[in-house]
Amino acid sequence: MIEKLAILYELQLIDNQLDELEELRGDLPAAVNDLKQQIQTIEEQIETKDAEKKSSNSKRKQNDEDVERFKASLKKFKSQLYQVRNNKEYDALTKEIDHTEEQITRLEAETMALEDLVQKLKKEIDEIKPQLEGLGKELKEKETELKQIIKANEREETKLNDKRTKIAAKVKKPDYNTYMRIRKALGGKAVVTIIRAACSGCHNVVPPQRQIEIKQSKRLFSCESCGRILISPDVAEEVQKKIQF
Ligand SMILES: [Zn+2]
Repeated sequence: MIEKLAILYELQLIDNQLDELEELRGDLPAAVNDLKQQIQTIEEQIETKDAEKKSSNSKRKQNDEDVERFKASLKKFKSQLYQVRNNKEYDALTKEIDHTEEQITRLEAETMALEDLVQKLKKEIDEIKPQLEGLGKELKEKETELKQIIKANEREETKLNDKRTKIAAKVKKPDYNTYMRIRKALGGKAVVTIIRAACSGCHNVVPPQRQIEIKQSKRLFSCESCGRILISPDVAEEVQKKIQF
């Protein structure tokens, strides 16, 4: 049992070191992610607007062609007016002419609206595009800074991670899961010791009888206040002595 507790504490000490390295990075990882997200959003906006611009332009081109076609028909219908033989033919032809003129008017109005839309989209793209440059520059700076920090501690981190893998392999799966759960919930420290009769995680007093039991290290004890795993100061000291960081 003592061995099991010692291993858990050893894991905790390694994680403490890794947490410290992580802390050196400060808010840089979050800032990098945030900038990437912002850039992606803008790029997507530009892409959407660009696609709309393209389809508006091609619709406009199609309209121009249609208008040309309708105008040619109109010319033909109008020349046919001189050749009609009766009222029925005349009515039919004027109906065609009216209909064609309506089509032309409709298409020309649509084309104008499309032109306005294209201009509007162009302006919007021109407005947001410059943001990309600034954000890209900022991202590059933060990434460089972050890389430098990571690189400076790379060897130490690799060493610690290797140690961690070895130690973690010795911890039983349920204990490991408990450890990780507490670590996640309480921000880093899952295994703590007793300092001046109190839990060193939450500083609440550990009852004397409990302290005696913990000292015996016969099973896993949790702090009644914060839920962290409590180990006796003797075990903690032993582990600390054993590990020379
Ligand atoms: Zn506690």
